[in-house]
Amino acid sequence: MVNASIITIGDELLIGQTIDTNSAFIAQELNKTGVWVKRRVAVGDVYDDIWQALDEEKKRSDIIIITGGLGPTADDITKPLLCKYFGGKLVVNEEVLAHVKYLFEKIYNRPGPILERNMKQAEVPDNCTVLPNALGTAPGMWFNADGKIFISLPGVPHEMKGLITNEVLHRLQETFTMPAIVHETIFTAGQGESAIAELLLDFEAGLPADIKLAYLPSYGMVKLRLTITGVNKMALQEKLQPYYLRLQELVAPFLVSAKDEGLEEVIGNLLKASGKTMGTAESCTGGYIAHLITSIAGSSAYYKGSIVSYANEVKQNLLGVQAQTLQSVGAVSEETVKQMVAGTLERLQVDYAVATSGIMGPDGGTPEKPVGTVWIAVGNKDKTATIKLSLRFGRERNIHLAAMNALNFLRK
Ligand code: ATP
Ligand code: MG
Repeated sequence: MVNASIITIGDELLIGQTIDTNSAFIAQELNKTGVWVKRRVAVGDVYDDIWQALDEEKKRSDIIIITGGLGPTADDITKPLLCKYFGGKLVVNEEVLAHVKYLFEKIYNRPGPILERNMKQAEVPDNCTVLPNALGTAPGMWFNADGKIFISLPGVPHEMKGLITNEVLHRLQETFTMPAIVHETIFTAGQGESAIAELLLDFEAGLPADIKLAYLPSYGMVKLRLTITGVNKMALQEKLQPYYLRLQELVAPFLVSAKDEGLEEVIGNLLKASGKTMGTAESCTGGYIAHLITSIAGSSAYYKGSIVSYANEVKQNLLGVQAQTLQSVGAVSEETVKQMVAGTLERLQVDYAVATSGIMGPDGGTPEKPVGTVWIAVGNKDKTATIKLSLRFGRERNIHLAAMNALNFLRK
């Protein structure tokens, strides 16, 4: 197997100010291509630390991908370092220079002469292959040294992504003979990871050595991924197929989707297929359900909108929840979410409505209604169903779980 290491550079990554999404993206893309990522490391903007990381990772991997530190500011030291590391010297690359000028004059629309430090972006080590960066000024660089491949990419995520997709992957495929990897992912809800594992005990024990099963739990859902690696993609797909089907049978009562997709996509597809519409009334989830649904392209075909009724007067005025209900049983109650559903069906003119009301914490709980109490209602013109959740996490996770539970309740 061809191995890779990913080194991400930046103090901001080490102090947690920026979450390292670059190496997750690169790892996913490499994995699809058949490259095994052996190690991911983050280092600060420190010359010796970067140098040492290169020394270490080249012992381990065939491909070393580095992101960050290519910019025009003083903390960006990757380029001179790489120049020294591979024994090259910096020279102006005419294509990059023309591209930098084009970006500043035509795209960024900056008047006046281009700063010296920006012009410097066109300087590259003379012993690398330049990977053109259509989306920014810092080009990618590809070095062959010590029988290994080193690829340096900008830290800006969308620039890095463009380079990986358009420049890096096909070059790697031309350089190495890649094995084929086939994944099949299914998606369950309503059972925890260990309960699913119990169910799959015999199945897992009976898997051939080249097929692996992985459990990926998140927010009350468990994804199950089967992976097979080999030479011929078609043959692998064929070999995996019966296991993929058997897995679906075994978890049938909890199966949400036989594809690697989110609950919001599953619901979108169901609504599109039936030609129905939906709306939401969100108190404790504060619009998070709306956000999840509208993050799917094409959701306008079935999603009309949300009334984020956080305050009681909004529940009354915009949704028609009765003042008396709010007084007697409170906003966090079965009766309130039922009335929120009725109000949404009527005022948003939708076929289905979802409503949430709860106490997300950290404060605001009472002995009768502790933090984490959430009522969810889902309904159409004929009937409304409710569930009560007792969540026991931090605020953010409680909101996420309430939203996912509401979507799963709607799906049923
Ligand atoms: P630029 O040419 O813009 O200076 P650069 O190659 O110097 O690019 P950095 O300065 O290191 O890149 O980072 C640019 C931006 O990209 C910063 O906002 C940084 O937080 C972000 N970034 C850098 N590395 C990562 C990473 N591994 N994951 C996610 N974001 C990152
Ligand atoms: Mg930086």
